Amino acid sequence: MIIKDEAIALRTYPYGNTSQIIVWLSQTHGKIATLAKGSQRTRSGLLGQYDLFYTCEVLFYAREQRNLHILKKCCPLVPRVALRHDWRACAVASYAASAVDQLAPFGPAMSGLYDLLARTLDSLAGRTPGPAFLPRFELLLLHELGLAPDWRACAKCRQDLRERGGRWDVAHGALRCVECAEDSGLEVSAAALRAIETMQGEALPAALPERVFREIQSLAGSLLEHQADCSTVARTLAFQVLAAG
Ligand SMILES: [Zn+2]
Repeated sequence: MIIKDEAIALRTYPYGNTSQIIVWLSQTHGKIATLAKGSQRTRSGLLGQYDLFYTCEVLFYAREQRNLHILKKCCPLVPRVALRHDWRACAVASYAASAVDQLAPFGPAMSGLYDLLARTLDSLAGRTPGPAFLPRFELLLLHELGLAPDWRACAKCRQDLRERGGRWDVAHGALRCVECAEDSGLEVSAAALRAIETMQGEALPAALPERVFREIQSLAGSLLEHQADCSTVARTLAFQVLAAG
C-alpha cells in the first residue's frame, strides 16, 4: 500500500553504501522508519530531498508486517535552513528531535505531538529562544505522551497544590500533598507548580526566577530520565547553549 503523509525527519543513518534509513515523526502515522534505497547515489531522485529537521511530503510503500517502510518519493516542504547556520539553535533542535525519537514509540501518535515538534522547530529556526523554552518543550512533550502527572492536584486526595506546593515521588511519577506523601519524595514549591501551569498555556512566562527555573528543570529531567533514559548529554548541552544566550 502506498501512503502519502507529511513528516519531520528525526534521525538518519546509513544503510549499506548508498542507502539511508530515516526515522520520521509523521502527521498521520506517528513515528515511522523508511528505507531510502540508493538515496546517496548522485542520480537518485531522493538525494537532497530530506535532512534532519525538514518537514517533507513523503510517499512510502507501507510494509504492514515490518516497521521499516520503503520511501518512494520525498519533497521538502519546510527545510528550516536557518538551523544549518545557527549552531545554538541546531543543538537545541537536535535535542528536541532526539527526545521525541527516544520517547515516542513507533506507530500512531497523538497529532498534538507532531504539531508540538513542528512549532518547536519553527521557533528555533526563527530566533534563538530564551532559557525557559526548553523546560516548556519538555513539559509539553511529556504531556502529549501521557507521561506527565496532573501538576495542579494531589494524586491521592485531589486537593489543589498550587497554593501549598507538594512532594514529587519520582519512582511512581506522582505528585502528592505533604500529608499524603508522608515525608517521602522531593519538595516541589507552589511557585514551580504555578509556573508549570503557565508554561503549559500558549505563551512563555515573561521571566522565571532562577530558583523556580532550576526546580522545573530538575523535575522535567527526573521525569525524562525515569521514563526513557533520555540522553542526558544532549539535554545538558541544549540547556547550556540557551543559558549562554
Ligand atoms: Zn493529598
